Amino acid sequence: MKQYDYLIVGAGLWGSVFAHEANKRGKKCLVIDRREHTGGNVYCENVEGINVHKYGAHIFHTNDKDIWDYVNSFVEFNRYTNSPVANYYGELFNLPFNMNTFYQLWKVKTPAEAQAKIQEQVKAAGITDPKNLEEQAISLVGTDIYEKLIKAYTEKQWGRKATELPAFIIKRLPVRFTFDNNYFNDRYQGIPIGGYNKLTEGLLNGIETRLGVDFFKDREALSELAETIVYTGQIDEYFNFQYGFLEYRSLRFENQLLDQDNYQGNAVVNYTDGETEFTRIIEHKHFEFGTQDKTVITHEYPQEWTKGAEPYYPVNDDKNSETFNKYKALASAEENVIFGGRLAEYRYYDMHQVVGSALSRVKKHFA
Ligand code: UDP
Repeated sequence: MKQYDYLIVGAGLWGSVFAHEANKRGKKCLVIDRREHTGGNVYCENVEGINVHKYGAHIFHTNDKDIWDYVNSFVEFNRYTNSPVANYYGELFNLPFNMNTFYQLWKVKTPAEAQAKIQEQVKAAGITDPKNLEEQAISLVGTDIYEKLIKAYTEKQWGRKATELPAFIIKRLPVRFTFDNNYFNDRYQGIPIGGYNKLTEGLLNGIETRLGVDFFKDREALSELAETIVYTGQIDEYFNFQYGFLEYRSLRFENQLLDQDNYQGNAVVNYTDGETEFTRIIEHKHFEFGTQDKTVITHEYPQEWTKGAEPYYPVNDDKNSETFNKYKALASAEENVIFGGRLAEYRYYDMHQVVGSALSRVKKHFA
């Protein structure tokens, strides 16, 4: 008999949901994280009463009522609706691509006019079967929008040519022929009132958690503690990078506390030109309709991931998918270890998908 039923490596959303559900079923869990806090990348730092999304802006959205009810059972969500604005060489456009954007670009006033304009450009580009992000984007919204609002932003974000990126990345964004600036199509959307830490603290309530503990520094002893390991870290690291590194895009954040109450009037402003080095400026207080006297803004600079940097976005191109499949085969052969989450599954997951993935694994595991 070991001391714990489960050792959960990683106190992010996936690990926290798993731990919560296992604990609820009477299992003894130990959660460890190499960081000094729980919550993984949804963790918020309180600065002058403002919840600063320390590892990048997180906006919860889902179509799944069960997932929505689940997260709301830990913390109430506000009515925040993401409506980023794009700044292209000083000109502002609404996002996602909708009638406001089309009017700002072409002065078209009806959906029929906007559709005709896009169709004309798609036809001129001659793309019938989009094979990469560039072709996919042009076939969805035409060349004007692609050139002003997509190409440079995407190439800054990913450090790769839009022709070398998978098409699915751009399919995340809605294209709408209504005057609706809501960035998501999902039925439910919001930010936890009081910040994301309330969510993860709620999930981990009553569960033993050790922070600042690096699994790889004490792998054998830690593994001995539990019957089953739930691993939510980078899958290649678990297998000592034996098939090489999986690539990620990383980010560098420059935070500033400003002595003014409202810097940009919106939580998210994207800079879609190729000259500005950062991709976006986040003004955190607007996620929670903050009324503080000061404000915190973050400039977000994408960068290539190197060992030691934070791995944010998996690069799901062919080369990396091939490497991942090799690690996945090793993972399926590993006994008494459950692999889950963005880093272990090497997937560009939104939060609702992380919660959904963890809950469905729990269901299977405890069936
Ligand atoms: N994108 C773009 N222009 C924008 C915003 C997004 O071209 O102003 C593209 C870009 O390729 C990005 C993808 O859409 O990687 C997904 O954007 P999203 O905002 O969903 O990315 P995240 O918030 O996950 O960083």
